[in-house]
Amino acid sequence: MPVLTRLIPSPLVVDIRAGALNDLAGVLADQRISSSGKLAVAISGGSGAKLRERLAPALPGADWYEVGGGTLDDAIKLGDAMKSGRYDAVVGLGGGKIIDCAKYAAARIGLPLVAVATNLSHDGLCSPVATLDNDAGRGSYGVPNPIAVVIDLDIIREAPVRFVRSGIGDAVSNISCVADWELSNRETGEAIDGLAAAMARQAGEAVLRHPGGVGDDGFLTVLAEGLVLTGISMSVAGDSRPASGACHEINHAFDLLHPKRAASHGEQVGIGAAFAMHLRGAREESAHMVEVLRRHGLPVLPEDIGFGVEEFVKVVEYAPQTRPGRYTILEHLDLSTDQIRDAYADYAKAISS
Ligand SMILES: [Zn+2]
Repeated sequence: MPVLTRLIPSPLVVDIRAGALNDLAGVLADQRISSSGKLAVAISGGSGAKLRERLAPALPGADWYEVGGGTLDDAIKLGDAMKSGRYDAVVGLGGGKIIDCAKYAAARIGLPLVAVATNLSHDGLCSPVATLDNDAGRGSYGVPNPIAVVIDLDIIREAPVRFVRSGIGDAVSNISCVADWELSNRETGEAIDGLAAAMARQAGEAVLRHPGGVGDDGFLTVLAEGLVLTGISMSVAGDSRPASGACHEINHAFDLLHPKRAASHGEQVGIGAAFAMHLRGAREESAHMVEVLRRHGLPVLPEDIGFGVEEFVKVVEYAPQTRPGRYTILEHLDLSTDQIRDAYADYAKAISS
């Protein structure tokens, strides 16, 4: 009999709601992820202390590990520190850096990872990739998907609102990433995975079209679900393609050319996505994206994050080099410096009303 379906690597538990953290131990026990409660919890030294105080009584079998920073060395050290204990799972409790370090450490010592995100700043919370700084700059390391993802909306609200905004930019950018993937499929014959594309695009569209704002649970739930589904779409595709296109090349170029001045991931990919949609001739979609980003308090022009026009032109020019082999609207148009300048002026004019 032929195999009629495929299995998708995905978490056993996705728990997104207000108060979810209070039931963490129970949920992990019920799902046989940790029946003994022996957990290695990775947490930040700073803001993590308060969370630890609050959660420690509910997790009596847990050992707590402070994560030094977001480097590959920090992740290796974390794994080494944890490997002598007999744990059922590693819990990454914090923002992106903590979860990425915990992901890598868990993979290194062969334990499943429970991702407990304390902010919604990007789609890495449930992805099969750990982004860590190394001697060459920043690297993306393949790791298993988390076995459980827990997002407590009460905790998300405690984080600065700019984190939620960043997540909005990252989710909405999926629409441009999938358009780049389809373009490459047409132009270069690159295989496209329809399921991964559907998951990533629907996540972006849901966030784009939700009428709510950063303050309400309904919106935060859709955003959190969108980011989780985006992470799983990357597992389905086997790489970051469904959620990384021209907008992400522009983001990487900002980071590489201006490491000290760069804005958040979501702010930069949001600008990149609106501009990329304009470049591909999707004027209405670009304008709609701009309207939504503005409504949520996100930047839409480089000057909104402190960059001049000429600096942005250089960023766009450099962008394709950040991801060799990835075909997007930037590689397709292969614009000269003057053409980028003209295209940007056109974009700025189109959204100026
Ligand atoms: Zn992203």
